[in-house]
Amino acid sequence: MGQTTQEERVGGKQLSATIAPVALRPQIERAAMKRILIVEDNVDLANGLKRNLEHEGHKVSVAGTARDALTCVTREVPDLVVLDLGLPDRDGYFVLEQMRSRGVQSPVLILSARGLESDKVKGFRLGADDYVTKPFGVVELMARIGAHLRRATLEDGPPTGGSMTDEALQQQYGLTERQVEVSRLLARGMSNAEIAESLGLSTYTARNHTEQVLFKLGASTRARVGAILRGEA
Ligand code: CA
Repeated sequence: MGQTTQEERVGGKQLSATIAPVALRPQIERAAMKRILIVEDNVDLANGLKRNLEHEGHKVSVAGTARDALTCVTREVPDLVVLDLGLPDRDGYFVLEQMRSRGVQSPVLILSARGLESDKVKGFRLGADDYVTKPFGVVELMARIGAHLRRATLEDGPPTGGSMTDEALQQQYGLTERQVEVSRLLARGMSNAEIAESLGLSTYTARNHTEQVLFKLGASTRARVGAILRGEA
């Protein structure tokens, strides 16, 4: 529980500095109202996030324990989950694992003070879509949440047939065969270490490929790769 206390302190301290200025956000585009579940036991942090998301026009629920979180997702599947890892009963990984095993496919953004690569890999392996480390900047967090919601909306729509083929990726973007493979794994949210493991490369080589793929696709973030491969860019 020592780590949880530390996390709360870090998260809470940053909160007062980053969440208060509502006026920072007019440039963030408004999306249609979505149901968002915040799983966070730090009440100040949860309420700060809730206010910001409600300001964007969303309907927000807060769960302070893993148990409450699972009750919430079972009652009404949210459009997105912001998930803390250090919870009083079970950890956020447990919540994520249970959600996915119950077939809840909502995008999950982990928000945690645990910043080790192994923490992130574990999160992605269990089906997280994004991972933001505390302390965080609220403007970036809101932008990431907006991006996940837009992507989920697009995926809910009818299939567009716009998925990029391997040939198209090679011809339009100049990817090599290996880079096509890397781009597919990036689109699934894999880290460099996971890509290395999956393709039998060194992490160094995987990172080089990743950088090349991002550069050639003109993707500003790893999260953009999926949209580009689906032909949405
Ligand atoms: Ca916590």
